[in-house]
Amino acid sequence: MKKKDKKKEYVKEIQNKYLKLKKEITIHNKLYYGENNPKISDIEYDKLWQKLKDLELEFPFLKTKDSPTKKVGYKPNQSFSKIKHILPMLSLENALNLDEVKKYVEKVSRYLNTKNQFIELIAEPKIDGLSISLKYEYGNFASGATRGDGQIGEDVTLNLKTIKDIPKNIEQLKNIKTFEIRGEIYMKKKDFLNLNEIRKKSNDSLFANTRNAAAGSLRQLDRNVVEERKLNFFAYTYGEITKEINFKKQSEFLNLIKVFGFPTNDLYQICKNFNDVELFYEKIEKIRNNLNYDIDGIVYKINDISIQNRLGLVGRAPRWAVARKFPAEKAETKIINIKVQVGRTGILTPVAELEPVYIGGVKVSRVSLHNQDEIDRKDIRIGDTIKLQRAGDVIPQVISVDKSKRNEKSKKFVIPNVCPCCKSKTDRKENEVAVKCTGGWSICEDQQIGSLEYFVSRNAFNIEGLGGRNLKKFWKEGFIKYPYDIFYLDKYKNNIINKEGFGEKSYSNLIKAINLKKKVSLEKFIYSLGIPQVGQRTSNLLSKHFKNFKSWFESIKSLSKNINNVYESYLNIDGIGPDVVEDIKNFFDKEKIEIVNKLNDALNNVESYKYSTKSNSKISEKIIVFTGTLKNMSRSEAKSKAEELGAKVTNSVSNNTDYVIAGTDSGSKEKKARDLKVKVLNESEWKKLIV
Ligand SMILES: [Zn+2]
Repeated sequence: MKKKDKKKEYVKEIQNKYLKLKKEITIHNKLYYGENNPKISDIEYDKLWQKLKDLELEFPFLKTKDSPTKKVGYKPNQSFSKIKHILPMLSLENALNLDEVKKYVEKVSRYLNTKNQFIELIAEPKIDGLSISLKYEYGNFASGATRGDGQIGEDVTLNLKTIKDIPKNIEQLKNIKTFEIRGEIYMKKKDFLNLNEIRKKSNDSLFANTRNAAAGSLRQLDRNVVEERKLNFFAYTYGEITKEINFKKQSEFLNLIKVFGFPTNDLYQICKNFNDVELFYEKIEKIRNNLNYDIDGIVYKINDISIQNRLGLVGRAPRWAVARKFPAEKAETKIINIKVQVGRTGILTPVAELEPVYIGGVKVSRVSLHNQDEIDRKDIRIGDTIKLQRAGDVIPQVISVDKSKRNEKSKKFVIPNVCPCCKSKTDRKENEVAVKCTGGWSICEDQQIGSLEYFVSRNAFNIEGLGGRNLKKFWKEGFIKYPYDIFYLDKYKNNIINKEGFGEKSYSNLIKAINLKKKVSLEKFIYSLGIPQVGQRTSNLLSKHFKNFKSWFESIKSLSKNINNVYESYLNIDGIGPDVVEDIKNFFDKEKIEIVNKLNDALNNVESYKYSTKSNSKISEKIIVFTGTLKNMSRSEAKSKAEELGAKVTNSVSNNTDYVIAGTDSGSKEKKARDLKVKVLNESEWKKLIV
């Protein structure tokens, strides 16, 4: 072969390699950003991306305008604008078996003080789709939004208009300003199979299950595509309704909206005792495979709406409902390797890398082994064949090791005594399961990246376009080290556009998304800091208690210095135990307090806690102490009610106390109140105050 031909052939080879890689990345981009349905891990994606970039560096002639390296950060679904839900969209507590449903009912009856009497439930199949909130104005379908983070969702109104199941005009609602209906968008099993058949023919990647297919389809930009995908809708609850509508029970509500023209699921049943609860579950589990849509469990709700209202919320979950998931699906696979990850709090987590296996339609290639105790208990080793299970949207778990298939030479796995990231010594405290890196946040890079990832994640600041890939890049470049740096990212405009391959448009979208988050609720602010044990529920409790940023910030400063009895006042918050207070105290060292301070400076506004109900109640801003036993409601219900109406509930009586509510056997607190001339109310006086 001539030298020239040889060169030509070589160029062609490189070109083919490049085109293949480019095509592959484009597909994964589309899956990740457009369809919400990634098929490979971030690490695998990064590898592909780096390969492409290396090729372009080595052979600049390859580079074209449409190269994916020019387009990272491009998010097509950014063109859905945001809708703030008037009432938050809730998530449900899970019960794994009948016993847990029983425990749930007992808890409710304790809260209501009804002496273990069975409270009528309504059982409904749990549709496996994505939740949606539809708003009707004077009977006309006005807008619809996805759940999002529960408070802010995506405006998918135009796409929803293509769904035949959703009524567009409702005569019976034409006198009601706002009527919000909530339910599930889902894809029928046969439409799902057809869709995958078509995608297979055109070499598109397949959807793992009906839920992913429904979610991916609803978030398409082209509404013609949405229409082709044939989505369906079931309505099952409501949000804001501006005019009293006559229904006293959930079952009545379902019948009513059916008359309005909403599709409802007829398989519901009213349960009068635990036998009904169990029989319904067995019945549905039996017919489950013959239904033409997927369900992943049963939802049990308190049927009586007035009791639902009494129960209210705990954190972001309603106290009046619980979901019982169907048992997990199982599969067998092999552990290729065990890697140790360092989390944002320095905890080392062993993660098994698996020969990929499908469980319930979802590809699983990694599973957390949690901690050393878990590894020891199940004796999990590299090379082992394991049984895995996965229930609904719960993360997969290892059930057991098949020791008959074990390689004789395999060794026990032990979490290393140095941090895989910063090489500091690791340490396991007595009575704790976690092995931790002792290097601390300021020298352990994985902890820093972990904290930042948590900070921008969905339930925290939820900054779109600043997920794993981009965040890591900015961190590596030194643009972002502390959370507050995110809000000054525009300092690096030229670097980001020129060096990081962002287009002008992607850059300005990103900055826009960041600026949107300069206003944040106190609850999210606290949550996003990643304090150990302080999840959504505890953040909610803290923001409810401290009400505004200033008083919360003062409290953590005092807590770290151990002054002003602030430790005790934390302990008095209902639902927060001493170990949580200890974690909060330990978390806020000098550096963290400075970070909080600077973060607050970077933001426009940390919004104070807002009560969803009227705050101009008679007890708004009042300080209340409960003592003794109330007859008609439990102490917890009384406390929640008071807080909902804007009062602050404390445990000890002082000159600042406005009311002491004394039940029977009230004892010393009532006496102290009388000594201090604080107003003492009995239960019926209290009830009058809160109507
Ligand atoms: Zn470390």
